Amino acid sequence: MTDLQQVLDEIALDAAMAADRGVVAQYIPELAKVDPRQFGIAVALPDGQVVCAGDAETAFSIQSVSKVFTLSMALGKYGDSLWSRVGREPSGDPFNSIVQLEQEKGRPRNPFINAGAIAIADLVLSGHQPREAIGEIVRFIRHLADDDSIRIDERVARSETEHGDRNASLAHFMRSFGRFSHQVDHVLGVYFHQCAIAMTCHQLARAGLFLASQGQNPLTGTQVVPPQRARRINAIMLMCGHYDGSGEFAYRVGLPGKSGVGGGILAIAPGKASIAVWSPGLDTVGNSKLGTAALEQLAKRMEWSVFGA
Ligand code: GLN
Repeated sequence: MTDLQQVLDEIALDAAMAADRGVVAQYIPELAKVDPRQFGIAVALPDGQVVCAGDAETAFSIQSVSKVFTLSMALGKYGDSLWSRVGREPSGDPFNSIVQLEQEKGRPRNPFINAGAIAIADLVLSGHQPREAIGEIVRFIRHLADDDSIRIDERVARSETEHGDRNASLAHFMRSFGRFSHQVDHVLGVYFHQCAIAMTCHQLARAGLFLASQGQNPLTGTQVVPPQRARRINAIMLMCGHYDGSGEFAYRVGLPGKSGVGGGILAIAPGKASIAVWSPGLDTVGNSKLGTAALEQLAKRMEWSVFGA
């Protein structure tokens, strides 16, 4: 049997030596300050064991990886009626694109592009003050990771709020179609804070484990979502989790995955593992450059691709 620890150590060593590490996100000043030499990887197995290498205990900004958790929460609250607000088709456009929104009358293509995640934040906000909704998201993630130390990085939240004109435009544009239930600044407050949650690879791999285990969190024994819903969330991750790089990610890695501009990726090998990888440098479409390369190697060596060895 392949020794997972050895594979991860070799992947971390390759990453440490990589010359081209991509470019750290520039449009959120707090993220632009992050040291691009970092790399961490953690693999959580259904028996609760977590195998790590590199900077797996360093917290980073999960950014759009949070969209997997808010989608799971919102599906729990609204069930299939959620799909009247967002679609589930890949966009083929950048994560913060506005072009399709006009043609599609304010219903974003999927819950993982920014417009879609902002629409989900509007749903999560229902019945709450923004502060309560943010608290609920953090509590959900802490429960999934079985770790109460997970926090929001307020500096990142502030930095993104100050430079959030594009996301504000998306929100106002959707609101103009009468599809929004709340004030734009309240919805954006929820969205920016969910993106600013800081987690380590170790914590993130644990938090994603329910998606690898038919919706059940083996750490806590809780059925987080029904098995069919976990399967569907994985399907959306595979098709839409890397924006206009989703086809390339499926081709190279072959696993459902969700990336964030903090350089994190959560990937799911159904029935086998939940994997979190982090390296802050991004490729041209905004996905972690070394993170993707690491997952490509891991999936190949462990024969974890959903499309076969
Ligand atoms: N918070 C980021 C934004 O809205 C999330 C984008 C991402 O991680 N791809 O721009």
